[in-house]
Amino acid sequence: MSTKIAVAKGDGIGPEIMAAVLRIFEAANVPLEYEYVEMGKSYFDAGHSTGMTPAAKETIERLGLLFKGPMETPKGKGVKSINVTARKVWNTYANQRDFRSLNGVDTVFSKAGIPINLTIVRENIEDTYGGIEHLLTNDVAVGRRIITRPGSAQVIRYAFEMARRKGYTKLACGHKANIMKLTDGMFLETFYEIAKDYPDIESSDIIVDDLCMKLVSRPEMFQAIVLTNLQGDIVSDLCAGLVGGLGFAPSANIGDNISIFEAVHGTAPDIQGKGIANPTALLLSGILMLRYLGYTNAAANIENSLLYTLEQGVHTGDFGDKSTPSANTETFADAVIANLGQAPVKGAVIAQPDMEVKANHDHPTKNKLTVVKKDTKEEIVGVDVFVESNKQPNELAEIAQKKLNENTQLVMISNRGTQVWPTGSIYTELVNEYRIRVEKKDGGEISQKEILHIAGELSEDFKICSVEFLMKFDGKIGYTLAQGQ
Ligand code: NAD
Repeated sequence: MSTKIAVAKGDGIGPEIMAAVLRIFEAANVPLEYEYVEMGKSYFDAGHSTGMTPAAKETIERLGLLFKGPMETPKGKGVKSINVTARKVWNTYANQRDFRSLNGVDTVFSKAGIPINLTIVRENIEDTYGGIEHLLTNDVAVGRRIITRPGSAQVIRYAFEMARRKGYTKLACGHKANIMKLTDGMFLETFYEIAKDYPDIESSDIIVDDLCMKLVSRPEMFQAIVLTNLQGDIVSDLCAGLVGGLGFAPSANIGDNISIFEAVHGTAPDIQGKGIANPTALLLSGILMLRYLGYTNAAANIENSLLYTLEQGVHTGDFGDKSTPSANTETFADAVIANLGQAPVKGAVIAQPDMEVKANHDHPTKNKLTVVKKDTKEEIVGVDVFVESNKQPNELAEIAQKKLNENTQLVMISNRGTQVWPTGSIYTELVNEYRIRVEKKDGGEISQKEILHIAGELSEDFKICSVEFLMKFDGKIGYTLAQGQ
């Protein structure tokens, strides 16, 4: 029985590499049927603000699976990236990127005889990719970094399950919880909570800068790493570099209902239309997709042929032995087709189900909402009011104190996160946005009304940039202290 999937050819080199990959699928008798969908730059240009037609959205939601070429998001038109929008709107929360040394693709590590075989699982929805940014003053821009318990749990559980399926013995969590104590702290805490359900997998954590250093010096230390979105994005491109570049980096965006398979690289406008693009990354993504659909024999057959082809020294212009002529996109695909049935001398794969198999997709009737813990005791104990001002910290404190009533007190003023009042250094350089922290005098609870009243009073002297409540959750403070506080 065949499965119907949505296919978007993409922009730039997208249609060229997609045609090559689908030709290989056809030659390998892959039981897939395609519904082509209208998505990409020309659909933005035609006035579709999301970069896709309503029919494309309907098809993808109905079929639950999108195989896509790279797409270009028009610059300077204020539209959001179609790739990021697709991942977020359809909640493809786990981005799995597999990296391994390929015979025929020379890298520093392959020359040194160090094999690389690791998987990055990147959270795909949250973090700075929420895209919530504001210019608060002409000089100060802020972005919100959103990390949630349900979002972290989804991707972390996926990573443990994936590690188990692949027969890995360990999973590391990359993070920066030493600096981002509440956001990355929540991700890390969730990691160790979920790790308790997987005693067969050795769990560890590593600070992301140390991780980068170790990945380039001792990549064999790692099997699988789970990270938040932005850090995962950067670390996975680093890993692409370890195995020969973006031409070899496949990616699966996995959700509970809809999943998207694509190459990590972009539209390569510099080589568009020349017919010389390397289809390997999209082919590897297609192979991941076949496993995901349960077509493990076809996946292994095509993968072995690709590995054999690479091992034979067939290469496109972006890699391989420059002294031998390069194949183009078409002739590279021809070689993979001609080699179907062959297996590489080293690293042949067997038809094992190492991807989650999801043939059937649910069609929800309402948006899913997850609340992890419902009985937490929450108290508001103060407020941070962010204001625009060119004044010195002590002048600001004097004005703010006059605005407070006898029950509230000015606790601290900071600038760019560094405390500048009641104590600070004359060498701290300032910008025109301050944080004024106010708390109840007895350390007790304060009402939302009182807080908004304080902000209202301060607005008589300052432009209010934003207001954040200071909260305690089951008695634990839910905000960070200023540097130097
Ligand atoms: P890019 O990945 O398109 O290109 C970077 C370099 O790698 C270029 O020199 C290119 O020629 C080369 N390259 C990339 N893929 C190749 C392949 N298959 N074969 C041979 N060489 C290849 O990155 P970019 O130039 O930063 O981005 C170009 C466009 O792609 C932008 O509009 C960007 O937004 C978009 N983009 C889309 C996706 C996606 O659809 N998921 C991902 C990244 C970038």
